[in-house]
Amino acid sequence: MSDQPISQSRRDAVKVMLGTAVAIPMINLVGFGTAHAAAPANAVTPDDPTAQALKYSQDATQSIRDSAARPGAPTGEQHCATCMFMLADQGEGDWKGCSLFPGKLINVNGWCTSWTLKAG
Ligand code: SF4
Repeated sequence: MSDQPISQSRRDAVKVMLGTAVAIPMINLVGFGTAHAAAPANAVTPDDPTAQALKYSQDATQSIRDSAARPGAPTGEQHCATCMFMLADQGEGDWKGCSLFPGKLINVNGWCTSWTLKAG
């Protein structure tokens, strides 16, 4: 080891690295953890028979909505939040009820082949 003192720029670099090492886990805990909140226990799952029959996906962009081309709105605007069957008074956050999935919750960003534009 050298007896020379550590330069100011090297000390600054070490501080930045230590700060980053602390900050990244904090971002994961505070920020991204809430953005990808876990689905509730009663969320509709891919193996649900009704979900399979209706080709439901909790992410409309991963569904067959483009090829299905349901009438009523451009496909990019078709998701559970714009569907007449969504029950907005059930569930919370991004997870709501649906008339076609009694007792379960669908994602407002989901889609299924029964999508029908809600009035107003
Ligand atoms: S019926 Fe409507 S609200 Fe229910 S899962 Fe299908 S698109 Fe979503």
